[in-house]
Amino acid sequence: MVAREGLVVSGQASRNGAGIVIPVDGPAGSGKSTMAKIIAERLGWDYLESGALYRAVGLKVLESGGDPDNPDEAARQAGALRFECRKTPDGWRNFLDGEDVTDKLREERVSDSSSKVSAVPAVREALLAFQRGYGRERGALLDGRDIGTVVFPEARLKFFMDADIEIRISRRFNELREKKIDFDQEKMAANLRARDKRDRERTTAPLRPADDAIPIDTSNKTIDQILEYMIGEICREYGQLIDLR
Ligand code: C5P
Repeated sequence: MVAREGLVVSGQASRNGAGIVIPVDGPAGSGKSTMAKIIAERLGWDYLESGALYRAVGLKVLESGGDPDNPDEAARQAGALRFECRKTPDGWRNFLDGEDVTDKLREERVSDSSSKVSAVPAVREALLAFQRGYGRERGALLDGRDIGTVVFPEARLKFFMDADIEIRISRRFNELREKKIDFDQEKMAANLRARDKRDRERTTAPLRPADDAIPIDTSNKTIDQILEYMIGEICREYGQLIDLR
């Protein structure tokens, strides 16, 4: 078993993971962002919550008074997006047109809008180059729905996380409560189910595990248990390259 404490990657340029991207896909509430962030932190790598990109497009459409079901409007906003995911003293934060919108992006109206705009092929296409820019200067973890299937299908190591729907709903409740974001419980649960269905059934880049992804059911596992397993897999695949100690 790999020691989790004191995990260090040496600072040398050739050993900072450049060229390595680890996709962490899964549905809402599966734990993918939590785990990808912790691991990126431990390794000193980059991190992108790709869902925030689609949320940013969804938010732009809403704020411009547009209709998230209008594909042309969604594509226009995606083409003009000025987005950044940056590590700050308050953790990883998402910026839209220079403004920190991390909390705003979690609002239910934005969740719903994001899942609608993300089904538009031109939206996905417009966001592809930005996502593929990751992993060049240092290693990166990206979480989302199609990172392992579409964005980085050639990645050697991919994870796909899932959990029982009721557990995912209760995790989302807790997350919104902790962030003091107002929400209606029933509406939120119905939204999450609808989003799941839309994400899985859409024609372009549907939510599904890549054939070679490692599945992780997080339903009854602690963060530490999942972390230990994932770090073990990363060491097995890349240990020699990234000098894990
Ligand atoms: O991951 P998160 O729940 O924040 O994503 C919000 C929405 O963005 C998802 O419901 C999904 O429709 C969309 N999405 C996507 N592809 C990704 C990440 C998110 O279509 N890679």
